[in-house]
Amino acid sequence: MDQASLFIAAGICAAALALTILSAWFSSRADIFLVGWTLGMLLLAVGVLGYHLMPTDNMRLVALAFGTELAGFMVIYCAARKFTGHRTSRQTLVILLATIPPVVVPTLAGYDGLGIAIYNFMAAALLVATGLHYWKARAEAPSAITAMSAIYVLSALSFFACGVVLIQQRQLVLHAPPANWAEQINAIACIAGITGIGALSLSLNNLRAARRHREEARTDPLTGLLNRRALFSMMETRPLRAGSAVIVFDLDHFKSINDRFGHAAGDEVLRCFGSIMRENIREGDIAARTGGEEFVLVLHHASPKVATAVADRIRMLCALSAMQTPSGRLSATVSAGIAFAANDSASFDEVLHRADASLYRAKDDGRDRVVLDEDYQAVA
Ligand code: GH3
Ligand code: MG
Ligand code: MG
Repeated sequence: MDQASLFIAAGICAAALALTILSAWFSSRADIFLVGWTLGMLLLAVGVLGYHLMPTDNMRLVALAFGTELAGFMVIYCAARKFTGHRTSRQTLVILLATIPPVVVPTLAGYDGLGIAIYNFMAAALLVATGLHYWKARAEAPSAITAMSAIYVLSALSFFACGVVLIQQRQLVLHAPPANWAEQINAIACIAGITGIGALSLSLNNLRAARRHREEARTDPLTGLLNRRALFSMMETRPLRAGSAVIVFDLDHFKSINDRFGHAAGDEVLRCFGSIMRENIREGDIAARTGGEEFVLVLHHASPKVATAVADRIRMLCALSAMQTPSGRLSATVSAGIAFAANDSASFDEVLHRADASLYRAKDDGRDRVVLDEDYQAVA
């Protein structure tokens, strides 16, 4: 195949990929980087197709084509930043835009060979920067991101080679598309790179969406804690060990908080209590909202003394806090019941049931208190 046909094929690939990514964005509008990828690929497609389908001795059109392609690489770099959670600062934007004049100015002056050589170097630098950016974030999906970084760097090498050959052969004025072995390789690298990067980008985006859905299904939206289903499925895969404590909290007279201050104020109290729980547990402990105003805490290896201290600190912080709600500041009290896994074969359901029984006693004894499983009261 001749070189022009290969580049036209690369341009068509980029346009098709842009449309595919755009359709992915329609189903997840919050993922703005998809718009970045679409725009970047479209700019590349327009630049490549423009250069190979229009007269190549019109320096204005040549400058416009390569400026457009470079802008495409910039947008793809910014989309990579966005995907990995980095904003593009104004300073970075200025540096990026500063790569355009060195390509456009020599081309407009008639030195299209020099302009194209510089374009190749700038494109290589942008591709390496994009690849490096993904590489730093490879922990999210190691194999897919490593492959993507490798494709970016290999594509960058093919652009770099094009620049070196033009300079070596001193082809500073062309008025026709550059034709040499590096351009042939570059055209093939573009087709392979665009296809590979497109497939990997979309699969990365799908992986992320699937993870987000899994996370949402496990999380209580009001408090951000685990929900009941997630707690039970977690306790199935990580059974209780001897000495683990299960604490059940239930807000006191919560119905009357709703009745007096409104449901929105009740929700705010639940959210505040969730934060108090989260802030007062150790790493590895499990906190969940298991029902309306009922919460469960699983502490691994906690003595009766430690478990009582943790539950009592949470109870006290709840009673003392002035929670900001739509109906003004208010406080709420909470009761807690604690039970322990006596041995490694104790089931979570059974220990939870005993913790519930302790909670009922706390309610019967007047609320705003922590009650320990009867068998352990002497130990604490
Ligand atoms: P006790 O001290 O005996 O626990 O009394 P209580 O009023 O807290 O218990 P009860 O089970 O009678 O009432 C629980 C209330 O919690 C009833 C329900 O309307 C409220 N509730 C359940 N889920 C939510 C929620 O998501 N938001 C709000 N605001 N209220 C909720
Ligand atoms: Mg309740
Ligand atoms: Mg209650």
